[in-house]
Amino acid sequence: MSMLSVLRKIVQEVSTAPDLDSVLDLIVRRIQQAMKTQVCSIFLFDPTRQRYVLRASQGLNQEAVGKVSLSPAEGIVGQVGQRAEPINLEDASRHPAFHYLKATGEERFHAFLGVPIIHHRSVLGVLVVQQIEHRRFDESEEAFMVTLSAQLAGIIAHAEATGSVNSEQQPQTQVKPQRDRHFTGVAAASGVAIGTVVVATLAAELETVPDKPAKDVQQELDAFRVALEAVRDDIRTVSNSLARRLRSDEQALFDVYLRMLDDQALAGEIEARIKAGNWAQGALREVVLAQVRQFNSMEDAYLRERASDIRDLGRRILGYLQESAGPQEVECSEESILIADELSPAMLGLVPEDKLVGLVSVSGSGTSHAAIMARSVGIPTVMGVVDLPFTRLEGRQVIVDGYSGRVYVNPSEQLLEAFREVMREERAVAAELEGLKDLPAETTDGYRMPLWVNTGLVADVTRSLQRGAEGIGLYRTEIPFMIRDFFPSEQEQLQSYRSQLEAFAPRPVTMRTLDIGGDKALPYFPIEEDNPFLGWRGIRVTLDHPEIFLVQVRAMLRASEGLNNLRIMLPMVTSVHEVEEAMRQIDRALQELQDEGYKVQRPMVGVMVEVPAAVYQVRRFARMVDFVSVGSNDLTQYILAVDRNNPRVAGLYAAYHPAVLRALQYIARETRKEGKPVSICGEMAADPGGALLLMAMGYEVLSMNANNLPRVKLAIRGVSLARAQSLLSRVLRMDDAEEIHQYLRQTLKQLGLGQLTRPRLPNQPS
Ligand code: PEP
Ligand code: MG
Repeated sequence: MSMLSVLRKIVQEVSTAPDLDSVLDLIVRRIQQAMKTQVCSIFLFDPTRQRYVLRASQGLNQEAVGKVSLSPAEGIVGQVGQRAEPINLEDASRHPAFHYLKATGEERFHAFLGVPIIHHRSVLGVLVVQQIEHRRFDESEEAFMVTLSAQLAGIIAHAEATGSVNSEQQPQTQVKPQRDRHFTGVAAASGVAIGTVVVATLAAELETVPDKPAKDVQQELDAFRVALEAVRDDIRTVSNSLARRLRSDEQALFDVYLRMLDDQALAGEIEARIKAGNWAQGALREVVLAQVRQFNSMEDAYLRERASDIRDLGRRILGYLQESAGPQEVECSEESILIADELSPAMLGLVPEDKLVGLVSVSGSGTSHAAIMARSVGIPTVMGVVDLPFTRLEGRQVIVDGYSGRVYVNPSEQLLEAFREVMREERAVAAELEGLKDLPAETTDGYRMPLWVNTGLVADVTRSLQRGAEGIGLYRTEIPFMIRDFFPSEQEQLQSYRSQLEAFAPRPVTMRTLDIGGDKALPYFPIEEDNPFLGWRGIRVTLDHPEIFLVQVRAMLRASEGLNNLRIMLPMVTSVHEVEEAMRQIDRALQELQDEGYKVQRPMVGVMVEVPAAVYQVRRFARMVDFVSVGSNDLTQYILAVDRNNPRVAGLYAAYHPAVLRALQYIARETRKEGKPVSICGEMAADPGGALLLMAMGYEVLSMNANNLPRVKLAIRGVSLARAQSLLSRVLRMDDAEEIHQYLRQTLKQLGLGQLTRPRLPNQPS
């Protein structure tokens, strides 16, 4: 086998091991075999003891495992860790740093190669191979170890993080003593929530099924048997109907499937798990995924193939189980925290609105659309908690800290009390904001700043009006498109647009034409691409499908009949010809409708500036349209080349990056030179500090989620325009996004607006 395939195989096998100990054991065994060394060991750094602990070994005395440890200043292992560099020695005992660990029996071994295990810039531990001979490991061996270590680091970190959450099925009775353990993600919607976990299961997705205690074991067994029989029937039906068209070996495969489902195979094991107390879906997931792992790690290609068969059979059984259980029956407590592998806007409906207090998503990031929705409904949310073992959390108590992006599992009473205090403070701030509803957003020197809202969910309209919104700066029309099974007709669109326009009339309502692609998929119009954010999205899709575009524009125009408060906005515009073409389509729809006898007026039409190409042509665009609005969420991602949805680079997604601020200032200036209004509808406008900078840059409208509107209003009422302008010029001289962020916070505090910065949080440096 080539080194590359050895490497792949080890990584694949290790990545499916169930817990940290098995991960480490597998690593040392496989590396020892692959490198034909006498010893392979792993030392992991224990931050509480500040020592490297021998956690697994093949070749050293097993009794030493878990007991022997070294401080960072001790031994060659300590040096590898401190320098974060490999050390390769012909005879370790001659090295000045050599520290003899008697219990390990290592005195027989001379050759030594230690490589650091580094994850996200920090050293997790050291991977060591040793041999009896006196020899230096050659370059390719060293390179192999470094490559392997880099790939295994993520898996080890994940296993370490999840290790503390046990898999018992009785969460109420088996609370782990390890307290206040937290998982870190991206802070996506501010606020704190304490509640009980509900895991959102995707239809027929085994990986998303949580463990739950079986309420009635017999009932779970019966449900499982019925589902199993249904799958068996399906297989027999297919097999019979294909009987004459298949070769005998192909036909035999169906028998293999039926046998896989036998009591001796899958079924027996699943039933045993149900009897042990897990509900049927959870037992199915456990057994099927364990088998899939086993088959996946087999040498034989034929047997490896069976892994996907088993997964497929598992999915089918799950399908029947879910069908008989009806739509996911969520047993939610009064305070529920919904956790999903990949949170989508549609999932928000799984828990009744009055019981949903917090949201957590394993994937996604702060400007993912699910996060934007969460902010607009004001539910504390953490996204991108990549290490969260979410299937084990059903029914557990957690704290969601939407300020720092942490999720605490099994919190102690002390920590709960500390967070309850934060929640009390939040309520006091909310009460203060309540009083602002009817007051204007006006600076202390009399500058009036219009505050509009972004909408999409039905509930947004009432909330926006309650908070005193003066218009809609962005109605995300794709959201009503998402929660359906096919494209809505002109008539259906007309009705939903009419209700937005009517609710806000005579205030302006800016409707964006369909903006799908990127991370916004329609279930009935899938777009599969390697680089969806650089792909077919926004105006690119709708210009390729004039039938969809025209229907939408016609519906918007008809909806505005008699109200005339409609503005149409085009997303993701990159080139002049796109604007020309879209304008032609809008004119055509207008003409058609007027010919058909509708009394529709030409609406204001504007473009969004979301890609760098649009920044540099903004004056040209401004001449062609009636207004310009900046989509800073996308603009930030494209200027910084950082995916707004990827938790791995979430730390690099910096709205206050100097390059982004310069671009924003340039857009405002250039647009104003053409005498056209310029507004912003990205999330930056919803941040009190960001709003002050944007006002100083000359943005004439700030459009944001309704939930944050009162906070922004309070900030604006607390400064003079002159002060905001000096803040801006100071900030524009800074080089670093974090420095800018800190400075904004500090300024808000000086202005007496400290309540708009995040509160002091327990367990955190302030
Ligand atoms: C933006 O990109 O800033 C924007 C407002 O649009 P969306 O978040 O819907 O992509
Ligand atoms: Mg956008």
